Amino acid sequence: MKRYSDKVQKIVYGGDYNPEQWPEDIWKEDMRLFKEAGIDIVTLNVFSWAAIQPSEDEYDFARLDKIMNLVRENDLKVCLATSTGAHPAWMAKRHPDILRVDFEGRKRKFGARHNSCPNSPTYQKYSVRLAKKLAQRYKDYENIVVWHISNEYGGECYCENCEQAFRRWLKEKYKTLEELNRVWNTSFWGHTFYDWDEIVLPNALSEHFEYDRSTFQGITLDYRRFNSDSILNCYRMEYEAVKEITPEIPVTTNLMGFYPALDYQKWGRYMDVISWDNYPEVDATPAKIAMQHDLMRGVGGGKPFLLMEQTPGVTNWHDYCALKRPGVMRLLSYQAVAHGADSVMFFQMRRSIGACEKYHSAVIDHVGNGDTRVFRETAKLGKELQRLGDFVLGAVTEAKAAIYFDWDNWWALTCTAGPTVDLDYKAQILDYYQALHTQNIPVDLVGAEDDLSKYKLLIAPLLYMTKTGYDEKIRKFVREGGIFVTTFFSGIVDEHDLVITGGYPGKLRDILGIWAEEIDALPEDKENCFDYNGSRYPARLLCDLIHSEGARALGTYQKDFYAGMPAVTVNEFGKGKAYYVATRSDAAFYRLFLQDVCEECSITPLLGDVEGVEVTVRENENGRFLFLLNHNDAFAEVYIEETCSDLLTDETFFEGTRIKMEPKGVKILKISR
Ligand SMILES: [Zn+2]
Repeated sequence: MKRYSDKVQKIVYGGDYNPEQWPEDIWKEDMRLFKEAGIDIVTLNVFSWAAIQPSEDEYDFARLDKIMNLVRENDLKVCLATSTGAHPAWMAKRHPDILRVDFEGRKRKFGARHNSCPNSPTYQKYSVRLAKKLAQRYKDYENIVVWHISNEYGGECYCENCEQAFRRWLKEKYKTLEELNRVWNTSFWGHTFYDWDEIVLPNALSEHFEYDRSTFQGITLDYRRFNSDSILNCYRMEYEAVKEITPEIPVTTNLMGFYPALDYQKWGRYMDVISWDNYPEVDATPAKIAMQHDLMRGVGGGKPFLLMEQTPGVTNWHDYCALKRPGVMRLLSYQAVAHGADSVMFFQMRRSIGACEKYHSAVIDHVGNGDTRVFRETAKLGKELQRLGDFVLGAVTEAKAAIYFDWDNWWALTCTAGPTVDLDYKAQILDYYQALHTQNIPVDLVGAEDDLSKYKLLIAPLLYMTKTGYDEKIRKFVREGGIFVTTFFSGIVDEHDLVITGGYPGKLRDILGIWAEEIDALPEDKENCFDYNGSRYPARLLCDLIHSEGARALGTYQKDFYAGMPAVTVNEFGKGKAYYVATRSDAAFYRLFLQDVCEECSITPLLGDVEGVEVTVRENENGRFLFLLNHNDAFAEVYIEETCSDLLTDETFFEGTRIKMEPKGVKILKISR
C-alpha cells in the first residue's frame, strides 16, 4: 500500500464538499472559486447514504457519479467518505434494531446522526455493503487519495443486541465466571454472578448514579472498552471491504482529539493514516490545542496526520460563536502543520442554508461569492501552501520527552467514586504539557504500548492505573538512565480498577522510593503549600502524605498536620531517576520544576522562549524545519541561533539575529546545514 504522503505532492488544501445541497449550476461556480482559493482536495459523500440507497435493494449513484466526474475534470483530489455516519430514515423504520438505546434506557427514534447501534446486524450488513459498492464503482478514480470511513464515530448504545454482545465479549476476555467475579470484585454488595445472562449493561437503570459515576467501576470500565471495540469493529468491517477492492488507497476515519468514548490508541492500530477534526473553544490556549495535535500524532505512532476538519471562521455549537479573528485561521492551520499535519481541511466548502450547521461558517458564505474576509484569507493561505509545495510533507517530529496518556486510565479516573469530584485527568496532563510547551520542548503523547527507548524523559501524571507489565517497562526505562516523573494518586489500581495492596504507589514504590500512606482531598477554596528551590508554591486538589523509602525530599509541605512531610521527591534508581510530585501546584511551579528536570536529562529547548510564541520542529529528507507561531496580538522578536531561510517568504536570516514576527505571524524556517 502507498503511504498517504506518496499519494499527494503538497500539503493538500480543501475540505468537506456537499454539492448535493445545491442545484448543479452552483457546482460550476464552486469549481471556479476553488481554483481561485488554491483548493486541491474535497471530501465527498459524507452524508449521502439516504440519497444513494433509497430502499432495501435499490442503489442510485447517478448524482455521485456526476460529482466525482466534475471534481476529477477540475483536477481535485478526493477524500471519499462511505456515508455510513447517519443511516436512512426508511432503514430505521423497517429495521428498528439499528436504533440505539441511550444511557437512560430509552429506545431512540430516527434522528440526528451517530445514531446506529454498532451491534445491529442491519447496520453491519448495509454499511459494509455500501462501502463495498462505493469501492467497486470508483476504484479507477486515480484522484481518490484517501478513504474516509463513516464520520466522527462516537456515542454508545445500551440495547439488547449490545447487552448480548457484551456478554460474549466478557466471555471471550475472562473465560470463566469465577475470573469475572474476581476482577469485578462482585463479593462486595452481593453482586456474584452465576450465569453470563445475569450480566446487564451498566447505565442509569443499573450501576450508575450519574453518567460518570458508577457503583462498580470494573463493570463500567469493561463496558467502555467493549463499546469502543464494538464501534471499532464497524470501522474495521468497512476498512476490510474497501481494502479488498482498492488496496493501494490509504484508509482513515476522522477522530476528535481527547474524545472520551473511544480508545483511539487502540483505533490507531487499524488506521493507515490518522485524521482528526480540530474545533478548539474560543478561549483554548495554544498549548491546549497543540496537546491534541500531539495526542493525535501519537495515536498514529508518531507519523504525520491529516487535519480533516476545522472551521474557516466560526463554529455553530458554542454558546457564543466568536469569529476567528483575522490571521487566526491561518495561524491555527500552520499550528496543525507544525505538529505534524500533512493537510489543511475545512468543514465545509459552501455554507448550508438549513438545519443545525447553517451558522457554521464555510469557505464560500451565504452571500455566494468570493468577496468575503473568510474567502480572501482562505485564498491567501491556499497560495502559500502551493508555494510551500512538498517541503515539509511527510516530515516527522523528534521528541526526547514523552507524556503518558491512556484511555483506560482516563475511564477509571472518571468513574471512580472518590477521592475528589474535581479529578480531571486531562487537566493534569495539560499542567505538564504546558510547562514543556512554553519552553519550546517537543513532546510526544504516548500510550501503554509505545516504545520508550527513544525518550530521555517520561512524565506520567495521575498514573492511577498501572497495567500489568507497565511498571516493569518504567523500571527498565529508569534503570537504563531514563528520567521518570509521576504524581499524586498514582500506582493505585491494576487494569481492573482493583487496588494493588501493600502500600501506594503499588508496583511503582521501589522505583520512586516512597510510600504514600494517606491521600487528603482539598476543596477548590482550600490549599496547602510547599517549598521548592527556595520558593513557596500552592498544593491543591489532592495531597499525598508520603514517607521516604530512599527518595530525597526536594520540597516539603508547610501547613496542616502533615507539614514537614515530603511534597516533591527524587529517587536514584539504576542509571536514572524517578520524581514524585505529591500534589497539584501552579504553572510557575511546573515550569521551574520541569526546567530543572529537563536540564538533568540534557533536553534543550528548540529556541529561547518568547511569551506567546510557539516553536516546533519537523524533519524529512528535505531538511529540518522550525515552525514559529506568534499567538500574540502584538509583534514579537525571536532570537535565531542558526542561519535559516523562511519558506513562506524566501527571506534569509543569519545566525545571531532577531527575527521580528507580526501579530499572529508564522515563519517556517529551513535550517541551513
Ligand atoms: Zn446497541
